[in-house]
Amino acid sequence: MLDIQNIRNQFPILDQEINGKPLVYLDNGASSQKPISVLETWEKYYTTINANVHRGIHTLSQLATTEMELARQKVQKFINAKHEYEVIFTKGTTEGINLIAYAITNLIKKDDEIIISYLEHHSNIVPWQMLCERTGAKLRVIPMNENGILQIDVLDSWLNEKTKIVSLNQISNALGVINPVEEIIAKTRKLSNAFVLIDAAQSSPHLRLDVQKMDCDFLVFSGHKMYAPMGTGILYGKESSLNKLQPFHGGGEMIATCSFEKTTYADLPFRFEAGTPNVGGNIALGAAIDFMESVGLEYIQQHEHSLLEYAQRHLLEIEGLRIYAEKANRAGAISFNLEGVGISSDVGMILDKQGIAVRTGHHCAQPIMAYFDIAGTVRASFAVYNTFEEIDKLVEGVKKAQRMLA
Ligand code: PMP
Repeated sequence: MLDIQNIRNQFPILDQEINGKPLVYLDNGASSQKPISVLETWEKYYTTINANVHRGIHTLSQLATTEMELARQKVQKFINAKHEYEVIFTKGTTEGINLIAYAITNLIKKDDEIIISYLEHHSNIVPWQMLCERTGAKLRVIPMNENGILQIDVLDSWLNEKTKIVSLNQISNALGVINPVEEIIAKTRKLSNAFVLIDAAQSSPHLRLDVQKMDCDFLVFSGHKMYAPMGTGILYGKESSLNKLQPFHGGGEMIATCSFEKTTYADLPFRFEAGTPNVGGNIALGAAIDFMESVGLEYIQQHEHSLLEYAQRHLLEIEGLRIYAEKANRAGAISFNLEGVGISSDVGMILDKQGIAVRTGHHCAQPIMAYFDIAGTVRASFAVYNTFEEIDKLVEGVKKAQRMLA
């Protein structure tokens, strides 16, 4: 059993009133709150260490480098990467996907194929459309059914030598659906030589990740959704896969030698880390991993699953409430609408008046909204510090919204 009060005490932001009511923060899918240990690590970096990393001869620069490389090792362990140089610091999931979509450009020819899924965030759609525009490749989208479950059988006939990359999320941010990434990776390996990129933005806070077991080529996530500061993120790349790619950004840090005639590139991971990194943020990301491991990922997952089941059971008692992908295997979030209430933000505004923070709208996943023929949903998303009492408040708040709007 988790001592939730003890965990909540580590998140000072939770202890406040919003609109005269205790804050109920259920917008963790957009960004989670940060524990004191992360805030203190960040503050300590800026008050005692702050210096640019790598190549510095002076003590602070060396200290900053050591601390940041220690954070890289924590990430390596967190995702079970084989080598620490397979861990690349980015500013978030979006940058990680754009990096790969750009860095594989030279490997893509006209009429090659790129496969994504119906359940993607815009950041896993647009970079591939841009790649298709640059190269003449075609984008194919794994369809889903009305339960939000991907119809992955299409891959049996789609995957072939033309397929260059399959990119999809492990958990959909809009519906919370857990996708069968292992099965998709196995099919891809069997039927093609394509790369596989996993968008773990919504899974890294909730599930234990193991990139070696998963056997993906690339995996990306954002620190800010897993208790770390904004502007931090990770791109994991299998060594052999990263070595097939061209660099993304050119600049300092990523070169071995530079002259006007010719530049040679640095080894991994620095080849993909041009410019000054977010040193304090990256070190604090290491502290966020320490926080998660100290609570225990398995406990976090269990607790959030209980919250989700509890919320689902009680929300469904409200007549006229529809949960999207209700029958799918889900984690982290519940997406719903009230019958007769066309604008999800109206519900969000009424909840906000009661101190309850949820996200409303299209969740950067407009194709999913188009599939269900809706403008948006109300999404409640969970973190380790949420409580059953908070879910009760959400349910009461939704009932109130229904009385006012329907
Ligand atoms: N993919 C998914 C599944 C997401 O949930 C998000 C964030 N909502 C992103 C990508 C983009 O993440 P970021 O804005 O942190 O780059």
